[in-house]
Amino acid sequence: MPEGDTAYQAAASIAAAFAGKPLTYSQFRVPRYATVDLSGRTVLAARSIGKHVVVDVGDDWAIHTHMKMEGVWRVHPVGTRWTKPAYTARLVLRTDTHEAVGFDLGVCEMLRHPDEALSHLGPDLLGPGWDPELAVANLARDPARPIGLALLDQRLMAGVGNVYRCEVCFLRGVHPHTPAGEVDLPAIVDLCHRLLVANRARVRTTTGHARARRYWVYGRGGRPCMRCGTPVERSFLGTADTTEERVLYHCPHCQPAPSQSSLRSRP
Ligand SMILES: [Zn+2]
Repeated sequence: MPEGDTAYQAAASIAAAFAGKPLTYSQFRVPRYATVDLSGRTVLAARSIGKHVVVDVGDDWAIHTHMKMEGVWRVHPVGTRWTKPAYTARLVLRTDTHEAVGFDLGVCEMLRHPDEALSHLGPDLLGPGWDPELAVANLARDPARPIGLALLDQRLMAGVGNVYRCEVCFLRGVHPHTPAGEVDLPAIVDLCHRLLVANRARVRTTTGHARARRYWVYGRGGRPCMRCGTPVERSFLGTADTTEERVLYHCPHCQPAPSQSSLRSRP
């Protein structure tokens, strides 16, 4: 699942091939932008902000994309065969040497003044101005909210998606339903930061292992916890009519449920 580290890697690979170079071709495969032609414009920068990828093309204009659940960016020399079906491409950019293709992007638009437009986002875990104290303060603002929901709220802290919220809760021994006010928020925030920094230049892992064992609990519903052997539980946190509903994985032994009194205190 694309999260802050994925966006960082995509932006870095676009920047490496495109920054300072004029575009020779662009094609938005999104109806609203089908007539936009960026050829002749120079790519000033490509950067991630939380889980968003922003490609600055001058005059305060930027291409703004978000990978959502399935999106992926590919950057390669011009002429390279695409590894994803062409009908899933939402954006194609080219210089005279390189091509970037955004497949299955959940958001793909032109945005004026991107930093203002994305100013609702909380501190960016991989951003140049990362501010852990502000992230902790934001997460503490609603102490009754389950930490498993607060971690996904990009207005509080930007970059964590479902994989990291499950893994961080496991690594801290915290049940995702635990009210945010009852967990060690500085430790949680620090762990999120360390994991994203470690993974921003490699295939993501939270265990140090690759492939099938790269996550402690994420995607491992019904299989034995790698620490204690108890079957990992798969559940949902949130109700069906909120965007917060995401499948949740946790170990009921390593992450004991919060006490009933703390759950009852939720307004
Ligand atoms: Zn366990």
